[in-house]
Amino acid sequence: MLKNNQAILPPQTIGFIGGGQLGRMMAIAARYMGYKIAVLDPTPNCPTAQIADKQIIAGYDDLSAIEELIEISDVVTYEFENVDLKAASKLEEADKLPQGAYALEVTQNREKEKTLLKELNLPVPDFYIVTSEAECQEALQKITYPVVIKTCRGGYDGKGQIKLHSEADAEEAMNFVKKHKHCIIEEWVSFDKEISVVFTRSVSGEITFFPIPENEHKDHILYQSIVPAEIGEDVKEKAYDAAKIIAEQMDIVGTFAIEMFVAGDNIYLNEMAPRPHNSGHYTIEACNISQFMQHIRAICGLPLKDIELLQPAIMVNVLGGDVENVLHATKQHPDGFIHLYGKADIKPKRKMGHVTFIAETVDEVKQQVTQFQEEFEK
Ligand code: AMP
Repeated sequence: MLKNNQAILPPQTIGFIGGGQLGRMMAIAARYMGYKIAVLDPTPNCPTAQIADKQIIAGYDDLSAIEELIEISDVVTYEFENVDLKAASKLEEADKLPQGAYALEVTQNREKEKTLLKELNLPVPDFYIVTSEAECQEALQKITYPVVIKTCRGGYDGKGQIKLHSEADAEEAMNFVKKHKHCIIEEWVSFDKEISVVFTRSVSGEITFFPIPENEHKDHILYQSIVPAEIGEDVKEKAYDAAKIIAEQMDIVGTFAIEMFVAGDNIYLNEMAPRPHNSGHYTIEACNISQFMQHIRAICGLPLKDIELLQPAIMVNVLGGDVENVLHATKQHPDGFIHLYGKADIKPKRKMGHVTFIAETVDEVKQQVTQFQEEFEK
């Protein structure tokens, strides 16, 4: 819904900044509902363009392309947090961005993100912001190893960060700061598991929470999400309470995700994403409404649907190196809902798709995954 309280209804046009897999899955949900789709992305025939009515082929910081997107769209959303802030302000001024620019400003900068969480009294790993070798040295004297040093901007899937095990790695940290300038040094949390809270908030402040997945990473890239996470009621309550505070304080609109570490009964907030999230892909088959369709409802000013988990689920990411095996298993095995994103270039670590398994119990879903993987070509 826009500021003039006008709901956006099909067949009006939703514009997307970014045409990768998240844009594609949001656009598929929107198409299903009858909306028209426009996408801005520099790569011709990108995953979202394949199901869009129109693609504007241009860089994300091309303000004339943003103007064109504003012109042809009734409402605009984005698939990643690194949207140019000048472009976001333009969209806000044109009253086409119900999600607003603030959530982008915070989540594209780890300093702003962690500082806000600390101000809200939410639990985060101990951290120091460093911009020079001297500051880095000082921080490393105060913090206990192991630690992780990350760039404040632009890191994803473990890119732009290194773990430091002891003082012997201090020099590596100095070189990292010299190269990247604006960095954050964080205490390394020895967590029991990683979880994420994915929720959707409407323009009028209604919040719906998706069931919490437990996320396993391999080489810093999400490998699989298991739902529901095996966590106690108190941890679940802490996680949802933290998400509610963030949602309200930041006045979030749309689907939003918060990654957290669980250590014993404690949670630590790690990272936030102002958009649908990889750990929420399971919602397409396992919930009565997906994170994507709920997002479209929120930005279009439609009431949100109460969320139910229909069945336990496991979502497994398909990276470039796995595509052939997954296609082979798909031919042999009836379980597993396959999603390929239509990316032209297959690279070993690139997210090419995902497969979701659902069944009556988590154990049965695990069995399905094992059987599916047994079909992989040796
Ligand atoms: P990030 O880019 O911040 O999401 O980090 C990627 C992954 O690195 C996380 O999902 C964790 O597995 C790990 N990681 C990042 N920061 C920490 C930390 N402070 N303590 C422990 N593990 C971390």
